[in-house]
Amino acid sequence: MRNRLLALPLVAGAAALALTGCATSSASGEASSDGTIKVVASTNVYGSIVETIGGDAVSVTSILDDPSQDPHSFESSARTQLAVSKADLLIENGGGYDDFMTTLADASDTKADTINVVKLSGLDKGGDTEFNEHVFYSYPTMVKLVDEVTKELSALDEGSQDAFEENADALTTKLEDLKSQTDAVKQQDAGDKVAYTEPVPGYLFDAMGLENETPDAFSEAIEEDDDVPPAALRDTLALFTSGGVRLLAYNDQTSSPETEQVQKAAEENDVPVVGVTETLPEGQDYVSWQQANIDAVKAALQK
Ligand SMILES: [Zn+2]
Repeated sequence: MRNRLLALPLVAGAAALALTGCATSSASGEASSDGTIKVVASTNVYGSIVETIGGDAVSVTSILDDPSQDPHSFESSARTQLAVSKADLLIENGGGYDDFMTTLADASDTKADTINVVKLSGLDKGGDTEFNEHVFYSYPTMVKLVDEVTKELSALDEGSQDAFEENADALTTKLEDLKSQTDAVKQQDAGDKVAYTEPVPGYLFDAMGLENETPDAFSEAIEEDDDVPPAALRDTLALFTSGGVRLLAYNDQTSSPETEQVQKAAEENDVPVVGVTETLPEGQDYVSWQQANIDAVKAALQK
């Protein structure tokens, strides 16, 4: 499947997304005198990965961390700005997803390195196809990120390098296990047709060989927070009445009357609905979150 997202909409999507939990997330990042490496990540997805590698040697501030809140415009708080200005390492998604990170870094005099995960991924080949910026659903990209984070942390705290590498190896093994689970789904279900309200799980579906049938005009409008063209809505709803798809992936963080209508159509036609998020649910780490996503997709495909 090729997802066509306009460049501008990505910014709109990011702004819409950008929003949540800045008030609750910053405390640990401000611990300045305890000798830990201070890392600021744009979302708790990346924050989780850094914590797993860095353990007690890092203090992580995740700017966006609450999937249950309604999106609202991200406003950088003094606290967030302070965390960025004191950071030893910054991690951003890139690709227009979290431009507020650039704004925050520019507004501080930080000399910290920034890891841009979209750049690291190598997934954006340019050209005419609009890029799906949800690279945190790509496990090979997360393996690259683990490597990069480990290098950066080791340069900042050489004494902890062995511990970082050990943690990184364990995490990479788990990511590779997730990857092999997607390979197994591909063996069995490649070519099955699916739908989503927004291309959040696009890379996961690609890895599983699942084919997205959602009209681009629908998912783009949802991502952009634009009005959905009536024909696109009609075509999307028809996927469920015609038996055209095996499941609907539904992103609660960008719900609207149209996505709710689509969800209802899926439910009325016994098409399983799989919830997906862009930030970690409470109490989950990256691996447990993605394991739950894989399990939910597999369960849906078995129905
Ligand atoms: Zn999104």
